[in-house]
Amino acid sequence: MDERILSGVLQTAEAEPEVTLRPRALLEFIGQPKLKETLGVFLQAARQRQEPLDHVLLCGPPGLGKTTLAHIIAREMGAQIRVTSGPVLEKAGDLAAILTNLAPGDVLFVDEIHRMPPAVEEILYPAMEDGKLDLVIGTGPGARTVELRLPPFTLVGATTRAGLLSQPFTARFGIMHRLDFYDAAALATIVARSSTILGCPVELAGAREIARRSRGTPRIANRLLRRVRDYAEVAGESAITERAAEVALDKLEVDQHGLDETDRRILTIVIERFSGGPVGLSALAHSLGEDKGTLEDLYEPFLLQSGFLQRTPKGRVASALAYRHLGLKPAVGPDTLFG
Ligand code: ADP
Repeated sequence: MDERILSGVLQTAEAEPEVTLRPRALLEFIGQPKLKETLGVFLQAARQRQEPLDHVLLCGPPGLGKTTLAHIIAREMGAQIRVTSGPVLEKAGDLAAILTNLAPGDVLFVDEIHRMPPAVEEILYPAMEDGKLDLVIGTGPGARTVELRLPPFTLVGATTRAGLLSQPFTARFGIMHRLDFYDAAALATIVARSSTILGCPVELAGAREIARRSRGTPRIANRLLRRVRDYAEVAGESAITERAAEVALDKLEVDQHGLDETDRRILTIVIERFSGGPVGLSALAHSLGEDKGTLEDLYEPFLLQSGFLQRTPKGRVASALAYRHLGLKPAVGPDTLFG
């Protein structure tokens, strides 16, 4: 389990507070305006037709709201949700057992869907497309296939690694969305909302300070809020002010821009080993000891979005902001490099 404070991954003691803080309706879901608008239309259309929503694939790094959205979809459709995940579905029979127990209109949420074994994926195809399940009964020459009809359902798949899904599989989802990292304004709104639920007043500037250091990720924003609240309470503060947030986050050694260890390592490698770039994705992944897909799906998006890394036709380049943040000096003046 990844217990670093700036990790987007769910941590051991977090499951319960997360459920409390989870928005229940699409209107409560903060940020991601494009996604909310299109999903809202699809939900309304499905409700009007009294049909289940088309299958949905949600992609994006951990902690951005994929599970939350799956629950919202079920709630907005007035349906029940069944939750499972790719690694739990080891055999085709595991999925068959779940599918045959669905009630009409149910939402089946499969987290980490890229980790589902191929044999399981195969039985999902006809289930998604034609609502049928081909079950093989027995083994050897006596084996026969029985076709079962399934109730209409909506599959909501979530993945942090969209690049690992096969094209025929992704093609079976009618609705596909990539969740982006949240901007500071949306994260500050999330912090303010959570503070109301937790009953710990936060001043706007305090919420902004927490937001700025949350790596664009609601899960991290909520985690930092809970830790800062502890500091504020012990210090006898009645509300989380900007100063209180700053002091607490500095004590927790949370990076000023929310960069985590891997982010900083990536930038340091680009700057020190590749003279600031340009460096190709494969070479960078090799130096980092990560595979190219992980770098591209999980790490690069935040660094690009927050302006620490730039994508050029020749490869990735560290920005002036990256040099400044790491306290490093470019070989050539930043003005010459970055215009
Ligand atoms: P993922 O499934 O992508 O890892 P989750 O849906 O579990 O992420 O979200 C993590 C936590 O962040 C949730 O418990 C919820 O409290 C919060 N959260 C995520 N997205 C939003 C949002 N758009 N608005 C408010 N809170 C959010």
